[in-house]
Amino acid sequence: MTWRLARGLEKLREQVNEAWPDRSKNSDGSVGDTSHSARVSDHNPDAAGVVHAIDITHDPHGGLDSYAFADFLLRKQDHRLKYVISNRRIGSGPRGPQPGIWRPYTGTNAHDHHCHVSIVSGALADDVSPWAMPEVADIGSHAAASAPVYVPPPRTLRRGDDGPDVEWLQQRLVAHGAALEIDGAFGAVTYAAVRSFQGRANLHADGIVGPMTWRALA
Ligand SMILES: [Zn+2]
Repeated sequence: MTWRLARGLEKLREQVNEAWPDRSKNSDGSVGDTSHSARVSDHNPDAAGVVHAIDITHDPHGGLDSYAFADFLLRKQDHRLKYVISNRRIGSGPRGPQPGIWRPYTGTNAHDHHCHVSIVSGALADDVSPWAMPEVADIGSHAAASAPVYVPPPRTLRRGDDGPDVEWLQQRLVAHGAALEIDGAFGAVTYAAVRSFQGRANLHADGIVGPMTWRALA
């Protein structure tokens, strides 16, 4: 089946490529692969052959911090935006539930290597008016000095978890004096470090990193 990308998303991709000409495209995507086509996804062409989603690679070192870019898209609420998924969060455009508010995303793909942008269907999908774009300096530039800050999602972490937010947790524990390896895996050593930190912070030392522990670590 021949397919094409919704023109509104073509426009967004063109603007992104202009703003970050050297960005990595390793995790870019548009049309669905076989795993997508087995389920409902905006990456699959609709009856008219139009694809309504793109993925934009997370490449903070090459300039484009997709977590920050997703924050920006969600804040701007472009009339074409259906939803955006980034780093275990999903947020809707103006017509969706809770527009502009991040909600936890629990799909198997955490979207920490790219952000996913879905566009509404119908005539608006081919609206090629320019998208609002951030100042490049706001969300990462080629200057190493503007390395992005990782914002921890409000996920409760416990023993057995892994991923970038566990890495972030470990970095915070080390900043608070713990001796541990930052490997992104919440094992026995991290568990002991969390309990010790909680004890020192006068929190209930249960080894579970919930909102109060996150706040104390920040
Ligand atoms: Zn996607």
